[in-house]
Amino acid sequence: MSERSFLIKNGWLVSSKGTEQRDIRIANGVFIEIGEHLSAKPTEHVIDASGKYIFPGLIDTHVHFREPGLSYKATWLTESAAALAGGVTTVFDMPNTEPATLSPTLVKEKLALAKQNARCNYGVFLGISAANCQELSKFDLTDTDFVALTDDGLYFSGSGHLLADHPEALEAVFSQTDRIVALHSEDSALIEQNEKAFQEKYGQNIPFEAHAQIRSEEACVLATQRALQLAQKHDARLHILHLTTYKEALLFDKELSLLHKKQTCEVSIPHLYFSVEDYVKYGALIKYNPSIKSKADRLGLLKALNENHIDFITTDHSPHTLEEKQQVYMQSKSGGPTLQHLLPMLLSLYETGFLSLEKIVEKAAENPALFYGIQKRGFVKKGFHADLVIADLKKPHVVKNEDLFSKCGWSVFEGHTFSSTVEMTFINGQLAYHEGKIMDEVRGEQVSI
Ligand SMILES: [Zn+2]
Repeated sequence: MSERSFLIKNGWLVSSKGTEQRDIRIANGVFIEIGEHLSAKPTEHVIDASGKYIFPGLIDTHVHFREPGLSYKATWLTESAAALAGGVTTVFDMPNTEPATLSPTLVKEKLALAKQNARCNYGVFLGISAANCQELSKFDLTDTDFVALTDDGLYFSGSGHLLADHPEALEAVFSQTDRIVALHSEDSALIEQNEKAFQEKYGQNIPFEAHAQIRSEEACVLATQRALQLAQKHDARLHILHLTTYKEALLFDKELSLLHKKQTCEVSIPHLYFSVEDYVKYGALIKYNPSIKSKADRLGLLKALNENHIDFITTDHSPHTLEEKQQVYMQSKSGGPTLQHLLPMLLSLYETGFLSLEKIVEKAAENPALFYGIQKRGFVKKGFHADLVIADLKKPHVVKNEDLFSKCGWSVFEGHTFSSTVEMTFINGQLAYHEGKIMDEVRGEQVSI
């Protein structure tokens, strides 16, 4: 049943170039024809998308699916279901699993897990830490089984320090590879100093809004400036993950086209959506690293995204159990589940006038595909893999606990009403999600880069 061909009629098809009413024909996993007034063939299943919006499947190149090793809080099977419900058809998984993905062999093992269980398309990062950074060149770094290198979620060494704290190690990485190096950028020494000051003042009871001052603007800007200088020295492809400050965003070029930029950056959805005021309501639930910062930063990030200082949007979907989150400040784990609500969150930023529909597609589908060189995805184009989302922008939905797919079983949005609803998600031409239901038999594919 899932292998049938489809004709999607009369929907508003969004791309970075504009929004037009189009009919879309899908067969054999790909887009066959995109046009007007297409007539159905007898074998085709016709979907009436009148009044609905059609997006290329979103590509989220920053998720933490926690498997192998941490499957008590997330698995490829559960989190990829959340992806489909959030309009996401491709994810890239970060290396801080157990074991950490620190070699091409471990990349292959994770890909095997994904192949069996992922309900959406996928790619996997190769991790960098103190354990492997001086001898990366012993690996085949042209291997396209991994999408890029990153330290995200990994402590560089046992001390809690990050790769960004070690300029000599970062230089060693840059000198060994031309591949994209995606970096978590904060200065740990400054953060520790701030933590100490707050612990002296509050003891165990540090308020969560202090997170914005502890993991401060200064700590982010300092680390990003330092990393950029080194990347420029080596002419390296440095990508800064989840920017949280407007000051950092202004360090990145906005004129060059994405494919000509050597130093790039992304922003994650919590930092576009929340600001320091929201800690009062949500506390630990919106504790992320780097931290959610001021309202001026949130607005600045949205501006920088629109002006192309920032190249694309990710979720940094990073599930923890509620028990792991609801601890005192110093013990509460940073991160949270966001994948299931990515498109509704973006559409709420559209409704409030911060992002156009075209910008959403550019920054959450087209640019991640172009940047990582993902073949034939990110666009609704003839011959491309048929990854597509149909959303109703006039159909509100309330987030309920029992509808969550993430294994951790909670969302900061519980009880919240989003004014749009993801109705259908197709991957590789198969209907994989329909009105709250996952088609259990559908699996994604490893993307080609
Ligand atoms: Zn992350």
